[in-house]
Amino acid sequence: MQNILVTGGAGYIGSHACKVLKNAGYQPVTFDNFVTGWRDAVKYGPLFEGDLCDAASVAAAFEEYNPIGVMHFAALSQVGESMHEPGKYWQNNVLGSLNLIETAAKYGCKNFVFSSTCATYGDQDNVVLNEDCAQHPINAYGASKRAIEDILANFGQSHGMNSVIFRYFNVAGADPEGEVGEFHQPETHLIPLMLDAISGKRDALTVFGTDYDTPDGTCIRDYVHVMDLVDAHVLGLKWLEDGKGSRAFNLGTGSGYSVREVIDHSQSVTNQTVPFTTGDRRPGDCTKLVSGSQRAIAELGWKPQRSNLSEMIRDAWRWHQNGHYDR
Ligand code: UDP
Repeated sequence: MQNILVTGGAGYIGSHACKVLKNAGYQPVTFDNFVTGWRDAVKYGPLFEGDLCDAASVAAAFEEYNPIGVMHFAALSQVGESMHEPGKYWQNNVLGSLNLIETAAKYGCKNFVFSSTCATYGDQDNVVLNEDCAQHPINAYGASKRAIEDILANFGQSHGMNSVIFRYFNVAGADPEGEVGEFHQPETHLIPLMLDAISGKRDALTVFGTDYDTPDGTCIRDYVHVMDLVDAHVLGLKWLEDGKGSRAFNLGTGSGYSVREVIDHSQSVTNQTVPFTTGDRRPGDCTKLVSGSQRAIAELGWKPQRSNLSEMIRDAWRWHQNGHYDR
């Protein structure tokens, strides 16, 4: 069986990717340092415990498993934190990724799938973002991901590294079979925080900013189901194996929902009230991030099937009620 090194395989998106990789006939090898990941989430293949900032441990993983491809999810990913502690983002995300990319190149592993973000585009109000839009990140998280995209482009020129870069919009939902799901500590993302507030696990949700230039004053995001997202990753891997070269793809649906609309949908799905208050804007937040996602559909043959907001909230709610991890 062919090994795929999955960095961050113990995290939210990485664990779902391991599941679909295994179903597609690959062996996912999780590389994780468990700073944010969960041992319980490593279910579909071997584990290599290591840190991307430790180049020796990265090399040891390549020695042991000789992967034919890399899916690189491991990263710090909180916009708010990145504004207060940018150094952590440059250190962990950029230097860790540089170690990984250099090691992959050294071991002749030239199929690299990278989890980037719509935050690399920055604030471009009232524009549906497509892959050719300029990238001007307004927070350190987005800047760190943008830098890694640049590193991959350079290694493409110098070492023949082929990369599929996925710029995620807002990932939501959980495995409908309930084997893996979203579980962050601390949690900072809208939908799980909302579900926590509904179930009384935490206090009321704070809506960050009600004075944005949007119809209801709250930020607009494009939500994509985690299962659809990871399906795209397997298609991206096959794209690389077929020798189609490096390409960037947005992963979103083209539909934007405001924070208030997400609250409304959550109330309908759960049949419960979301307790919320309103607060200040969160530094680093863009007004509106909505994907132009035709490229992935047209070129990769991606067919998002579950990325309807109510379905994403329903799957997240099921996981919220039944699933959890221990470290
Ligand atoms: N948000 C909010 N309250 C929270 C968390 C998030 O109002 O407690 C808003 C946030 O300002 C953004 C949207 O919800 O407009 C999605 O934020 P999230 O952190 O889930 O993802 P991001 O867009 O930062 O990747």
